[in-house]
Amino acid sequence: MITHPPPLALYIHIPWCVRKCPYCDFNSHEQRGELPEREYVDALVADLEASLPDVWGRRLQSIFIGGGTPSLFKPSSIDHLITAIRTRIHVNAEAEITMEANPGTFEAQRFVGFREAGVNRLSIGVQSFDDEKLAALGRIHGGSEARAAVGAALETFGNVNVDLMYALPQQTPEQSAADVRDAIAFGVPHVSAYHLTLEPGTPFHRTPPAVPEEDVAADMQDALESAFAAGGYEHYETSAFAKAGFRSRHNLNYWTFGDYLGIGAGAHAKITLNGTIRREARLRQPQAYMRAALSGKPLLEAAAVAPAELPFEFMLNALRLIEGFPVALFAERTGLDILVVEPQMREAEALGLIARDHEWVRPTAKGRRFLNTLLERFLPGERAPRPSIPIASARRPRG
Ligand code: SF4
Repeated sequence: MITHPPPLALYIHIPWCVRKCPYCDFNSHEQRGELPEREYVDALVADLEASLPDVWGRRLQSIFIGGGTPSLFKPSSIDHLITAIRTRIHVNAEAEITMEANPGTFEAQRFVGFREAGVNRLSIGVQSFDDEKLAALGRIHGGSEARAAVGAALETFGNVNVDLMYALPQQTPEQSAADVRDAIAFGVPHVSAYHLTLEPGTPFHRTPPAVPEEDVAADMQDALESAFAAGGYEHYETSAFAKAGFRSRHNLNYWTFGDYLGIGAGAHAKITLNGTIRREARLRQPQAYMRAALSGKPLLEAAAVAPAELPFEFMLNALRLIEGFPVALFAERTGLDILVVEPQMREAEALGLIARDHEWVRPTAKGRRFLNTLLERFLPGERAPRPSIPIASARRPRG
């Protein structure tokens, strides 16, 4: 039984993009005509209101507006949304409020408006500064727009994340290193660097482009980790690098198995209520979601997480952290004694995948490299129920 609910965050999904990128498996839909901004914000607010009884008296410590491409919305819509949230639930004075933005010129002109609306951290989906690679990824922006957007974001927000991807179609190690060098040269305080994966259901999965071999991709990863270390960044999570004081508080809440409300088309939530954990998934199709949310029924499904599933869910998040987690956090967040995973921990330790003492558990360098092998040890047994609602972890850099 969980005695104290963990910190609470809010994720908001805005599901439209100018064009669907061929590698993207997110719930994003091509914009056709004018976006129904007002109706969608009304739906988000109705969705939040329906969730409030589950989080009564709790405060938001962070908000993340993701997508899709949220920067397609006007600053006035974002302002309306953030104001509506603040009037319905207590938002900590120091709360991190992140919004994702596309690096198009059009969006960059709106950055000041987003800042004035209350956004205090911008996450830009750069992916690469190389025109050829951006074209291969089907991105709608080029390298010069990416540079201009990063410059404008740093000027307006200071607290900026840049998403990069590596192991891109026909990318050489030198080209990957050049992207990393550019990001470091800008002095962006946070970078998320993600291996391009060919996700089922995407055009890249159906017709795979020529991507670097795994050992070349692994060398790219080693090189970028060294470059960020030399540039004064701390590698604190599998894909995340931050200057001191700029770790993503919203994502850290996922990785430490905190709670989050999730509103918007296809959004997921994890809420601790009366000592147990409940997961929710919302309708994915934007029009159906809006209709449902406005009539007070935005959920596609909701279910309590069985105790047998909790060790895997906890480890899936916490073992992404380079420093690992304090032993006491496991019981605090799952309500289970750490001894329930002692056989798996002993095995992982014997294989050199984790190191631990009585206070702390951390993945070793080998455990980080073979993270899936490490996590598999914590999967529920054959007879345990499988999770019906996908487990959300921190957002992967895609948008
Ligand atoms: S990668 Fe980003 S911009 Fe491209 S379709 Fe997906 S969410 Fe939209």
